[in-house]
Amino acid sequence: MKLANRLSRVKPSATLAVNAKALELKNKGIDVISLAVGEPDFPTPDHIAEAAKKAIDEHFTKYTAVPGIPEIRSAICEYFMRVYGVKAKPENIIIGNGGKQCLYNLLLCLVDDGDDVLIPVPYWTSYPDMAALVGGNPVFVPSSVENGYKISIEDLEKAYTPKTKVLLLNSPSNPSGVTYSQQETDAILHWAIQKNIFVIADEVYDQLVYNDEYKSTAAKMWLQYPEHIAVINALSKSFAMTGWRLGFTLAHPAIIKEMGKLQGQITSSICSIAQKAGVAALMSSYDCIAPMKEAFRRRRDYAHAEISSWEGVICPKPEGAFYLFPDVSRLFCDKYKNAPELCTYLLDEAKVAVMPGDAFGLPNCIRLSYAVSDETLAKALAAIKKALYC
Ligand code: PMP
Ligand code: GLU
Repeated sequence: MKLANRLSRVKPSATLAVNAKALELKNKGIDVISLAVGEPDFPTPDHIAEAAKKAIDEHFTKYTAVPGIPEIRSAICEYFMRVYGVKAKPENIIIGNGGKQCLYNLLLCLVDDGDDVLIPVPYWTSYPDMAALVGGNPVFVPSSVENGYKISIEDLEKAYTPKTKVLLLNSPSNPSGVTYSQQETDAILHWAIQKNIFVIADEVYDQLVYNDEYKSTAAKMWLQYPEHIAVINALSKSFAMTGWRLGFTLAHPAIIKEMGKLQGQITSSICSIAQKAGVAALMSSYDCIAPMKEAFRRRRDYAHAEISSWEGVICPKPEGAFYLFPDVSRLFCDKYKNAPELCTYLLDEAKVAVMPGDAFGLPNCIRLSYAVSDETLAKALAAIKKALYC
């Protein structure tokens, strides 16, 4: 059988693969804790779920307009206005099956074969594969644990080539939790615009910023430079709606139109029921986010203090998202020579699944998601500590 060459440019999603392995062990009756995949442990808030039930009862179960029903596009405009004071129009918005599909469709619209796509390291595991799938070359922008994984204009300048077409900027970052302030975001955007680079700002964790000083969005600069910037977001993390698959893009109407053209050929419209749930989420009060965010903050503080106390482990304190990304390279030894081996050891010995940093471009690190209950987190960290030090 001869399958398409493009498949060789893509690896399976590492996050989903490790999670599948943990689930497989769980199904065999082994008591495994997964800190591997990043998704809120909270149920979707009731008022959102109720809107979906109502949609089913009212038979709102047909295809809809490809970019989204008018109410959801307006509700997303309401989100940008309420959260950031940014005035967008429905023609600037398209929804997709999660932030993931929005990102992919946007890359399809922007990247030609051979274009360079700048990706700060560490990166969310799907970025390089998506960039390669659309024919681009992922070009990595290195950072280090010493500077807290934050990239500077100098770092970008070094990675820039005349073929650079797109910069993927993720704040708060998965996996590092690095969050750029408004000033830092604007400085990076200015640099990119002046180089004629298009910036895709992935803000799917924008509601999970633990220090208000770092609350920022590329949407503010987008108002001024709509031909150079697009913002990706989703209801997945903010409203505990990972399974509903509802993401959105804010962009110039010409880009939205092209994304709609592609989506119309590839996917058609997004689940009609999820759209009604999304309208309820975005048009109601956002108070349901606060207790989830508080829980994530508490777990971050606890897990960061605990892991920082482990000898030989360097763990920067993240300002956002729900991951810790410690450098564990000083622990490498004959028993586990690298991060994947360390992760296999932890799964076998501690029965805890965590992600090797290789999946995010930094093989000295591991990623732990703290989007699990306080008790589960404490149990998992105690088991890891025991496996590593006792
Ligand atoms: N961007 C980042 C940085 C992510 O971590 C994720 C993972 N959920 C996504 C995009 C995609 O989100 P969604 O689940 O809405 O597709
Ligand atoms: N974004 C989450 C993670 O990184 C979900 C899994 C995925 O979509 O890759 O764990």
